[in-house]
Amino acid sequence: MSERRSNEVPPEERLRADDGCPLFSPRLEEHLVALSRGEVPARGHFCGHCYTPITRDTVACPHCGNDARSGRRPVERVPDAILDILRAQRRTESTWVNGLAYFGLVIAIVGGISIVLAIPFLRDRLIWATVLYGLILLVGGRMLAGFLGGYFGDRWGYARARARMREAWEEWVARRDGRGGGGSAADR
Ligand SMILES: [Zn+2]
Repeated sequence: MSERRSNEVPPEERLRADDGCPLFSPRLEEHLVALSRGEVPARGHFCGHCYTPITRDTVACPHCGNDARSGRRPVERVPDAILDILRAQRRTESTWVNGLAYFGLVIAIVGGISIVLAIPFLRDRLIWATVLYGLILLVGGRMLAGFLGGYFGDRWGYARARARMREAWEEWVARRDGRGGGGSAADR
């Protein structure tokens, strides 16, 4: 597998959707992330349906199966609307992850105070109370933030982002294929 990037959600660890929407293949996602960092040129060769990077010789898209000869023709760059959809998806996901991480921190802050105040031994011993509270904040805050943000935030954020992305994709396909009387039915 590819190496991890510490500041990104690794594409291979994303929850994979099986909902009929072809956005985003891991290869397209990697390409768009690299593009946003200026590491790759925008021009290339992409599937005409799902915009997965393909080679000039590719006939059937490895991601969506679109036939480059009889189906939608390959394109030279990913449309801006698709870039926007990916940006919106990442924004939604990171909002959920960060929001729930902060919520975990708040639980540690409030819970820590409650615990310290509930122990009679600590009421007259400010130093020990501070030490214990500090430990609860450090360890508990870290764990709760990681658990709530990294686990629930990741899943809920992905689900929300995915739902919005599907709508955006269907609108995009309707607009893209609409004028040609295209074949993509907007069925569920
Ligand atoms: Zn494709």
